[in-house]
Amino acid sequence: QLIKGEQQRRKMHNRIQELRGNIRVFVRTRPFLPGDGDNHDSAVDVSPDGQSLQIFDKTGKADNNFQFDKTFAPSAMQENVFEEVSEFVQSALDGFHVCLFSYGQTGSGKTHTMQGSGNGQMRGIIPRAVEQILEQVNVLGQQKWKYSISASFLEIYCENLKDLLVNMGDGVPAGGKAPKLDIKRDADGKSYVNNLAGVKICNTDKAEGMAQLEAVMAAAAKTRSVAKTDMNAQSSRSHSVFMLHIHGQNEEDGTIISGALNLCDLAGSERLDRSGATGQQLKETQAINKSLSCLGDVFSSLASGSSHVPYRNSKLTYLLQDCLSGDGKALMFVNLSPTVQSSHESLCSLRFAKRVSQVELGKPTKHVTYKMGGKK
Ligand code: ADP
Ligand code: MG
Repeated sequence: QLIKGEQQRRKMHNRIQELRGNIRVFVRTRPFLPGDGDNHDSAVDVSPDGQSLQIFDKTGKADNNFQFDKTFAPSAMQENVFEEVSEFVQSALDGFHVCLFSYGQTGSGKTHTMQGSGNGQMRGIIPRAVEQILEQVNVLGQQKWKYSISASFLEIYCENLKDLLVNMGDGVPAGGKAPKLDIKRDADGKSYVNNLAGVKICNTDKAEGMAQLEAVMAAAAKTRSVAKTDMNAQSSRSHSVFMLHIHGQNEEDGTIISGALNLCDLAGSERLDRSGATGQQLKETQAINKSLSCLGDVFSSLASGSSHVPYRNSKLTYLLQDCLSGDGKALMFVNLSPTVQSSHESLCSLRFAKRVSQVELGKPTKHVTYKMGGKK
């Protein structure tokens, strides 16, 4: 029994070694849309190799040949994009703590990439990821694994956490006052948010699970819409984090896996006009700039191998610390608009992306507890 356990551990260790690597960076350029005006000369030229792109400024001068793990042309469909992240999503089910970000200026396609719309072709990464996990859990569930899956959805606005499922989870009265959310560390040093609602997602019946996810998304949209009249402005100024917690237990040998998938739609990265902003607006501008620059600082300090990484400087980085350290895995989408008017913002986003792609996270940790006592 012991030898078998050791072999299993070694096999697992080798697989983890294979999976180590940098933070991955994918760049997705959206197509031209009706609101973009008549000039459809693209400022972004995505190479057919799918790994590099060029950007042109207003005078038509090309700047930098950027290389990334993956570059999607405007014609890429939601399903093509998901194909490239499905293995990454899968690793949450294997017990890793993983995080996908979407970064870019407002209107560049972050929410389209993460959430998408409708029930068909236009569905984004969130519903596709949940669907994939439910399918696989269902198969494994028939082979001695028992799972429990729950979803949470929160927003970070001006460094305040807000539960978007406040009317759904366990123990929170519908219409009642939402308890204050705080980021805490558990005994193992893992971060979690206390008082955050967790909605159980059925994993034995995919249709039921997907219906529950739809209810989760609808509840989140409702919480957002009652909070502010200008919903678009609000969502472009806050980060939203969709979380899926996956807990699995092997009924035969007692092995426990505890994986987490975080899907994070970041606030618009555009430089907001500071002039004229006062009061709440000014505070807001500063908070957004601060938390995105804190994310940049964390990446820079990881890239330089610094012994102190400033995770605690913003709620976002503190919350996602497990994914942004050697312990986890991260993948960043940089979303670009193809318009010439956006080329300066696009260039800023690409420079940020270049910094991120130089980050080495080291060896990720699989959150697995082995119990070798045989059948329980
Ligand atoms: P962001 O979240 O970055 O502000 P959105 O995802 O809301 O941007 O995208 C802005 C608009 O462009 C939306 O109407 C969205 O449906 C559309 N859009 C974005 N990306 C694509 C795409 N790849 N294909 C078609 N429409 C897109
Ligand atoms: Mg958005």
